[in-house]
Amino acid sequence: MTEVIRPDICVIGGGSGGLSVAAAAAAFGVSVVLIESGKMGGDCLNYGCVPSKAIIAAGKAASTMRHADKFGIKSVEPEVNFKKVHDHIHSVIGAIAPNDSVERFTALGVKVIEAHGKFIDKETVIAGDYEIKARRFVVATGSSAFVPPIPGLDKVEYLTNETLFDQTRRPAHLIVIGGGPIGIEMAQAHRRLGSEVTVIEGFKALGKDDPELAEVVLRNVRADGVQIMEGAKVVEVAQKTKTTVKVTVETDDGTKDVVGSHILVATGRAANINGLDLEKAGIKFERTGIKVSNALRTSNKRVYAIGDVAGGFQFTHVAGYHAGLVVQSILFRLSGKENRDIIPWATYTDPELAHVGLNEEAARKRNGDVTILRWPYAENDRAQAERKTEGLVKIITNKKGRILGASIAGHGAGEMINVFSLAVSQKMKVQDLRGYIAPYPTMTEISKRAATSFSAPMTRKPFVRRIIGFLRMFG
Ligand SMILES: Cc1cc2nc3c(=O)[nH]c(=O)nc-3n(C[C@H](O)[C@H](O)[C@H](O)COP(=O)(O)OP(=O)(O)OC[C@H]3O[C@@H](n4cnc5c(N)ncnc54)[C@H](O)[C@@H]3O)c2cc1C
Repeated sequence: MTEVIRPDICVIGGGSGGLSVAAAAAAFGVSVVLIESGKMGGDCLNYGCVPSKAIIAAGKAASTMRHADKFGIKSVEPEVNFKKVHDHIHSVIGAIAPNDSVERFTALGVKVIEAHGKFIDKETVIAGDYEIKARRFVVATGSSAFVPPIPGLDKVEYLTNETLFDQTRRPAHLIVIGGGPIGIEMAQAHRRLGSEVTVIEGFKALGKDDPELAEVVLRNVRADGVQIMEGAKVVEVAQKTKTTVKVTVETDDGTKDVVGSHILVATGRAANINGLDLEKAGIKFERTGIKVSNALRTSNKRVYAIGDVAGGFQFTHVAGYHAGLVVQSILFRLSGKENRDIIPWATYTDPELAHVGLNEEAARKRNGDVTILRWPYAENDRAQAERKTEGLVKIITNKKGRILGASIAGHGAGEMINVFSLAVSQKMKVQDLRGYIAPYPTMTEISKRAATSFSAPMTRKPFVRRIIGFLRMFG
């Protein structure tokens, strides 16, 4: 028999976004129902960020062994036990899983329903044995791997992010279709763990990032031995032998066949909107996701949509940011608006690639006259000591020095971008970055040096040179 419940908030989807809404609302003593049809923790914990970063860490360990000679330690070819790499990945997931578990959320006061949720009208969702009539609904159903309609793909076994991390045997030759962040991260990790890897990208690999910085990363990924084919369109896939698959690609130089043992499809994400019966709730959507206002409201005023399903930037920290805005709106009637200009992202290749704010092209379009500041890793003492000298920090400012955006390619870029995320979100100027003291020797000094170079043209002015000369005379 169906039980009718009337909570303040009903969240559909127990991933990064949904869990954050549920935890925050429960902390304020608000009644919350959370519906999850798969694994608590969603993509990030089970099939995304966490397992991908765990396999990247394993690949890095293997690479360190291979290149230890630059530190005076004999390099060795590591013996990779892929089953144990698999176990490492799953033990990392296991260590984090209790934070996202049904038990933890139940203890927080959330009613968790483990079932598929869907709308039956504008104010009701059904899930399992429950009919939920909430004051507000939050759709946080995430996204899944987008599988393009390539002829023959449906007739072979292929991997997506949902199955890749279940592999207990090393793919002999992994063919990655798609050269975006997920494809390139997984290509490098698998190559470092001993697989042959070919990436096939229809346009430009890492094409959403600044080409100058993406090139630094791609050069290194290629140096690891990953074959990256760009401007290569997959036209057909077929089983070649019992253990091999053939991928036919069209390039400017004609048609080529790539033969490998496994295919990973990493051609983007599709919002999880099927099966929600959004039409019954009057919720408008398009191919990329549920249509939302900048306050994340859908066309049904009771319903919000957050995270990947809302069709914007698809990252865990964005789902968390959305959750914060929605909780403020529902609990305190504060109408916060999403500001996409302050959202950072990072690709966890080696070296890493990170960005926040406007890129050079967008900044020129919006501001006309902009200043580009660059500082190379090679000029940093710590980078020299660590032998991580590849890469650069690039800052984009307006004429007055306000930081409009920054990109970093290099060791620890995902960590180093934090200071620029703060700078962009707080509308800081390069002068502010000059005014704090960075401990020596740290790679963050690179960012400070790049900021300091904003004044370099000043130091060429005669009167400034005279002052500098005068100061030097007195030590
Ligand atoms: C390989 C890979 C690596 C990634 N790496 C990073 C990274 O390093 N950093 C980063 O920021 N982001 C990364 N991401 C992206 C990140 O995983 C997503 O942006 C994030 O998980 C989105 O959170 P969400 O809450 O929108 O959706 P999810 O976390 O996917 O949660 C949605 C949940 O809803 C459930 N659900 C769906 N439909 C229903 C329904 N009808 N009823 C009930 N439940 C339902 C699903 O089972 C799922 O658990 C990565 C993604 C992938 C695939």
